[in-house]
Amino acid sequence: MKAREKVIIVGGGPVGLLCALNLASHDVPVLVLESHPELFMDLRAGSFHPPTLEVMEPLGLTAKLLDIGIPVHKWQLRDRNKGIIATFELSLLGDETPFPFRLHLEQHRFTPIVLEELRKLPNAEVRFSSHVENIAQTDSGVRVTARTPDGEEAFESTWVIGADGGGSVVRNCADIEFEGFTFPERFALISTTHDLGHDGFTDTAYISHPVEWCAVFRLPDQGPPGLWRFLYGCDPDESEQDALSTPRIERRLQSVQPKSTPYDIVHRTIYRVHQRVATTFRNGRLLIAGDAAHLNNPIGGFGLNCGLQDAMNLTDKLIRVIHADASDDFLGLYVRQRRTANIEYVQEASIRNKRLLEETDESVRLSRLDDMRRSSLDPSLAKAVLMRSSMIDSMRRANSIV
Ligand SMILES: Cc1cc2nc3c(=O)[nH]c(=O)nc-3n(C[C@H](O)[C@H](O)[C@H](O)COP(=O)(O)OP(=O)(O)OC[C@H]3O[C@@H](n4cnc5c(N)ncnc54)[C@H](O)[C@@H]3O)c2cc1C
Repeated sequence: MKAREKVIIVGGGPVGLLCALNLASHDVPVLVLESHPELFMDLRAGSFHPPTLEVMEPLGLTAKLLDIGIPVHKWQLRDRNKGIIATFELSLLGDETPFPFRLHLEQHRFTPIVLEELRKLPNAEVRFSSHVENIAQTDSGVRVTARTPDGEEAFESTWVIGADGGGSVVRNCADIEFEGFTFPERFALISTTHDLGHDGFTDTAYISHPVEWCAVFRLPDQGPPGLWRFLYGCDPDESEQDALSTPRIERRLQSVQPKSTPYDIVHRTIYRVHQRVATTFRNGRLLIAGDAAHLNNPIGGFGLNCGLQDAMNLTDKLIRVIHADASDDFLGLYVRQRRTANIEYVQEASIRNKRLLEETDESVRLSRLDDMRRSSLDPSLAKAVLMRSSMIDSMRRANSIV
């Protein structure tokens, strides 16, 4: 194949690496250009939902994740003062998916697994310290300019996938709008060694409170017992430094689960949260996926999953286009399927989840919690909640679009 037929992927995060692995595994040469000098090791997403495990299974990734992740078979909805409101058992999804659970594994432990697989393939190249600055497309190809340790370098290809996160240069070069809004408050993500399982928390639990709502998760870290993560919104008027100060974090964690000794804080990070969807995921030979195409708040764990599902959907179609089994128009189906799933399910559900936790009108909040309690006690209603929250409904909706 000529160099021009290579697919260039901008961004070596989880979505870019998965795109590369699927393409290279199907005889499509790929070049990944990543700004950082090595894989980015930040505290970020950590939940894999059933449809994501399903789509990655043919690449052999799911089995590797199952070896080191924590399967989460139930989750709780709690009120900070009243305690457990509802428990949802994912075994109710046993007839719907081979993976009726969530898998907890840190995003930064997923990317090395994908990179290791990519490095086994002769037609895949990953270049770190390569920051893409500009992309120009003609009728027959694309020219990508990047700043590399050797100075400015240009690369040519037939297709470019932008998996370069929320500030996507590919999206900007493709002149695609990123519609939506940014929340005024930032979100804090705090890890501790304290085992909330001993206090009766399931490995995923959501705690409603009009001001100090919170979500907690157990992540594997380097092995059992793992680390517990607290995720919560900070006061919009508070500086980042104050929000992440030890006394402030300590007070916040104690308010969720009081204990006589201070919490041992292992990691702390704070970040801005957005609800945005690109107006299209394609302009000619430029395609976008993952955070480059959509952003949402993390309550429900949809962001990374949606991106990984995009990656498989897009590259399955691009493989057919490149091998001449389908025309370029087939890529329009990627846009329709994945953009619709994001708008109708991910945006809607992540905003609804946040409202459920933080509602300030006490009667509305308690009535919504009561609805969830009643749903959890009726197997068919509970299953409906789980079909949505596990992203099975959104995947089926996407795949129903032809
Ligand atoms: C602090 C934080 C916490 C989060 N927590 C959660 C969570 O708890 N649950 C959840 O579901 N989601 C969470 N998310 C979101 C989740 O991490 C993202 O949805 C996921 O990382 C998206 O993957 P991606 O590959 O699309 O983008 P990214 O992970 O952002 O990867 C993009 C990659 O592109 C590279 N890049 C960018 N620009 C260029 C360029 N011009 N040239 C070359 N390379 C470039 C970047 O260096 C990066 O490696 C969190 C995000 C953040 C920031």
